[in-house]
Amino acid sequence: MAVPLLDLHAQWAQVGDEIKAALEEVYATQRFIMGPVVDKFEHEVAEYCGADHAVGCASGSDALALALLALDVGPGDEVILPAFTFFASVGAVTRVGATPVFADNDPVTFNLTAGEVERLITDRTKAVMPVHLFGQVCEMDAIGALCRERGMRIVEDAAQSIGAKYQGNRVGRTGGDIATFSFFPSKNLGCMGDGGMCVTNDAELDKKMRILRNHGAQPKYYHKLIGMNSRLDALQAAGLSVKLRHLEGWHAGRRANAADYDAKLADIAGLAIPQIAPDNWSIYNQYTIRVTNGRRDAVVQGMKDRNIGCEIYYPVPLHLQECYAHLGGQPGDLPAAEQAAAEVLSIPIYPELTEAQRDEVVAALRELVAG
Ligand SMILES: *Cc1c(COP(=O)(O)O)cnc(C)c1O
Repeated sequence: MAVPLLDLHAQWAQVGDEIKAALEEVYATQRFIMGPVVDKFEHEVAEYCGADHAVGCASGSDALALALLALDVGPGDEVILPAFTFFASVGAVTRVGATPVFADNDPVTFNLTAGEVERLITDRTKAVMPVHLFGQVCEMDAIGALCRERGMRIVEDAAQSIGAKYQGNRVGRTGGDIATFSFFPSKNLGCMGDGGMCVTNDAELDKKMRILRNHGAQPKYYHKLIGMNSRLDALQAAGLSVKLRHLEGWHAGRRANAADYDAKLADIAGLAIPQIAPDNWSIYNQYTIRVTNGRRDAVVQGMKDRNIGCEIYYPVPLHLQECYAHLGGQPGDLPAAEQAAAEVLSIPIYPELTEAQRDEVVAALRELVAG
């Protein structure tokens, strides 16, 4: 039986008709940029997160850039962020002209830690970017306290963690100045193309991001700031509004699949199941195991041969990426990030996965990890 890493057809079967009807309403208005449909979805996301404000934009990558611009992060500033994350986290830092400072991660949760942030602070540190990787929130208590004490701003890259909870609060109420989401199709709340959002509890930042996403103009043709063209399409907002109503159910499906995997994979020697910190409620955007016996790449090949989807998120930590060679990162600098890159493997976790599919994945791993 083939098991894809992600299959969006089942989700479309559930919501497709409703989304098509919502799109028809947008077509009827012929209003595609901003407007009431986008406003409504922004309010819905803010309410869902428990945040005061939400600002839609064109992608999760743009959301990070907008957040950094709104916080006046630019040339001469350093931003501390983990090396073990998707490229977009650091791409945004470079794009605004700031200098990334790569941090190591907790070897077990893969997330940024306050201790590591503290090690890397300099007089030029302007902001910290905790990335809530795979659906789990970083230790925001300690990171928040440290940043407040040292006057550093916080942009939470929550592209993979909309709806994830830390100490009972959803991201958006987790202590950052701004948290950003992506609606890339593979995220828990995915649109039909690219889309993103920033949430904040600061009215001034909200206002500034609204201006920045629209060329920095206010009013039209009078440019206060040098902004960008980064808006969430009304068509995407219409579809996302429908999907948001199903999001908690989909999170629950992923969490149930994760619990099933946890039980069935825990006894496999050479395989480490994901660990969720006690304060956390993960939305499992990814279920990421570690193959600790050196057989990870052989396991990937075996999964491919069996038509079981899996992916290495992420094979090269950012400090070792070719485009950042000028920053002087060397192998051995960030041991946990490098170990994660060598050991991780994400397996199918999407909500509609059947028990038979999960058992197929488990059986394959049992065989392949043993070698
Ligand atoms: C997906 C993702 C992004 C970027 O989102 P896009 O919408 O694809 O631009 C940023 N950071 C992380 C950690 C992501 O997983």
